[in-house]
Amino acid sequence: MPLQPARTVEELRELRELTGNENGAQRIAWTETWERARRWLRGKLDFAEHEVDEAANEWFTLRGESDRALLIGGHIDSVPNGGWLDGCLNLLAGVEVLRRLHEEGTPPLTVRLVNWADEEGARFGRSLFGSSAAAGSMADQDELRDRTDAEGLRLEDAVRAYGVDLDRATDARRQLENAAAYLELHIEQGPVLESLDLPLGVVLGTFGVERHLITWTGQAAHAGSTPMNRRRDALAGAAKLALDIRRIAAETGDGAVCTSGAVVCRPGIVTSVVETAEQLLDQRHLDARKLASMLDEAKRASEGFAGEENVEVAWSKIWSIEPILFDERLIELADEAVTEVAGTSHRLPSGPLHDAAEVSRAGIPTVMLFVQSLRGLSHTKLEDTRPEHLELSVQALDRLTTKALDTLS
Ligand SMILES: [Zn+2]
Repeated sequence: MPLQPARTVEELRELRELTGNENGAQRIAWTETWERARRWLRGKLDFAEHEVDEAANEWFTLRGESDRALLIGGHIDSVPNGGWLDGCLNLLAGVEVLRRLHEEGTPPLTVRLVNWADEEGARFGRSLFGSSAAAGSMADQDELRDRTDAEGLRLEDAVRAYGVDLDRATDARRQLENAAAYLELHIEQGPVLESLDLPLGVVLGTFGVERHLITWTGQAAHAGSTPMNRRRDALAGAAKLALDIRRIAAETGDGAVCTSGAVVCRPGIVTSVVETAEQLLDQRHLDARKLASMLDEAKRASEGFAGEENVEVAWSKIWSIEPILFDERLIELADEAVTEVAGTSHRLPSGPLHDAAEVSRAGIPTVMLFVQSLRGLSHTKLEDTRPEHLELSVQALDRLTTKALDTLS
């Protein structure tokens, strides 16, 4: 039986029925609904060998002529009130590819589909749990142990109920020992492909991220008695920077994005000039040098604004990650696969991180395919993609799998 992409769309709808409600998908990791989805997925793959690793990732294996393995991945967990495609499209497209390979006989390489545990981090705020454990990059076990969810339940206890011992989670690394390459299909979750009227794209890598807290310090003063030219208004500095990062992003180009996501003002009353403004800044770029220069430029600009407003400014890093570039040879193959299926290909970076970034960081050649998201929406029940585009995406993943098997064997 050849590939049946329409079956993937039917199965996505089936999963939506099984694990969603009127507010959207509810497959939050380490919950009963997540487990129901995992059981359902296992039922679809009864022809493959099944294994759960130390980080609760599930592996479905088709033995090939060689032990070297081509990996295809996705995540069945969702955010609360999530969309019907994020993460599970990857898996169900992978299911269809495995079916096709299984019916054709023994593939030249072993092919494994992985359902990563807790990609979203929706409950405990720790994204990429399973893939970072398998990549060996998870290093925050001590901090994770005491993380709690909104109900006060500890992460350590929640994961133990699913067989995970935090101290042994990175033993999942052995799963990547024979990995020759990793492929992941995902919805774009942004508006770029739709704006270009293209169904599919090839992902070059994931953005590097710089996240900083900027503290502006002025002087609280009476709103009535303090003349405008005597004020030391911390918010004025933050406001100038919030606007100037648009210029910085535009001048840097190539997809650069800068966001000032919050400013907290104190004393925060209507009758006082702002004494302190705590501002959050997030900057992203695929090019490490450009990312670094965007950060330098924002710092320089902030010092200028501090001078103009007679306030002080201090920066502290919250978190950062380097850009992760996918494998050039696999990008070429992905371009070929997308062009064959859709007529035109387009290369684009990914703003969000994905499990693929962790696998790539572990040194496994990696590439991702994106399929258009309608209105660019995700992490909401409004998330959607046209059925015909979903079908094309299954075909593209299938073609890419064949090309990767041919190239690697
Ligand atoms: Zn996802």
